[in-house]
Amino acid sequence: MHEGNSVCASYEAPIYLCTNLLMKFGTKAIHAGLEPDPATGAIMTPIYQTSTFVQEAPGVHKGYEYARTQNPTRIALEHNLAALENGQFGLAFASGMAAVDAVVKLLEPGDEVISTNDLYGGTYRAFTKIFEPFGIRFHFVGMDAPERIYPYLNDQTKMIWIETPTNPLLNIIDIAALCNVARERGILTVVDNTFASPYLQTPLDLGADIVLHSATKYLGGHSDVVLGALVVRDEELARRLYFIQNSCGAIPGPQDSFLVLRGIKTLHVRVQRSCENARIIAERLQQFSAVNRVLYPGFSSHPGHAIAKKQMRDFGGMVSFTLHNDTVEAATRVLTKTKLFALAESLGGVESLIGHPASMTHASIPREERLRNGLTDSLIRLSVGIEDVEDLIADLEAALGA
Ligand SMILES: *Cc1c(COP(=O)(O)O)cnc(C)c1O
Repeated sequence: MHEGNSVCASYEAPIYLCTNLLMKFGTKAIHAGLEPDPATGAIMTPIYQTSTFVQEAPGVHKGYEYARTQNPTRIALEHNLAALENGQFGLAFASGMAAVDAVVKLLEPGDEVISTNDLYGGTYRAFTKIFEPFGIRFHFVGMDAPERIYPYLNDQTKMIWIETPTNPLLNIIDIAALCNVARERGILTVVDNTFASPYLQTPLDLGADIVLHSATKYLGGHSDVVLGALVVRDEELARRLYFIQNSCGAIPGPQDSFLVLRGIKTLHVRVQRSCENARIIAERLQQFSAVNRVLYPGFSSHPGHAIAKKQMRDFGGMVSFTLHNDTVEAATRVLTKTKLFALAESLGGVESLIGHPASMTHASIPREERLRNGLTDSLIRLSVGIEDVEDLIADLEAALGA
């Protein structure tokens, strides 16, 4: 590593301490963990497209040996991520799912996880189809009432997995309340913070042990890269996760690390605008005659509103709604009519997207289970981008016949 950087590296687990906690968010987004390139002064972190690093003598090197273990572009991103989440240690992965995979590999057969029920479909699929056969048990619980986890707690419970706001129902889960229950019992808490972004919510400050991101969404922000991230404070936990990252090798390449670093520089500005637009759209949608329920935590009538206000800076850029005609066909008519809202999976980019969870992101969840959780056939999810809101509203009016 560069002289003067508070970094020490070992082959098994490079450990990076983030020292940028005192800056405010927008400053951290642009500067934390970054310094001009020592070789040239380049202000942007170079894309170190290399697999290995030359050593002067065996074991004598500049802190980099092999790029699965350490790559300077990735490490710059990892420092930056750690600072954004008010953590100490950041780890970048090839995708959000690779980050999920690394976290579950902390567990052993026989261990149990209590997870949010209304959860990213890919995470549910990995839990039930990949990890259950390895002997890990998952309980899916509606955590918007934290006391619902009590019947599932036992000596085997090793992890509580929280996603909030939930996807796609936008329920709010009280992170601090669940972390308190977990800490008393030595259970790790993981918060998938993808939907909120660190600009709106920093779960480590609320007592969480691990924060997870699909950086594919708000962090990258431009729908041009797939990447995942973890941030922790505890050094021992960081070592175990670095060991998994290096041993299993699901790391992002330097080009993708660069793209996310660049995206993060405007994170606060993008998320602010997206929240503003989402609020206006959620209010407008309530006036459309075809629309039945609008799910948006910014409404004071939303059951999670008070907790959202307590743990988030704003209410996010996601809005879901159902139709009076609660059928896939009615939803499909809307989804195929919008022009600015592009019909696509994913979220968190500058462009607005519209999606149908039942047939897209949540198709891997059995229908009965979907309906039980309130994810009905007509439910439509909007990822509100940063376009001019009048144009977005006109697009929805045209599609909904309002
Ligand atoms: C997209 C997403 C993931 C998975 O991330 P990928 O980058 O697509 O692998 C995990 N959790 C949430 C909440 C997501 O939206």
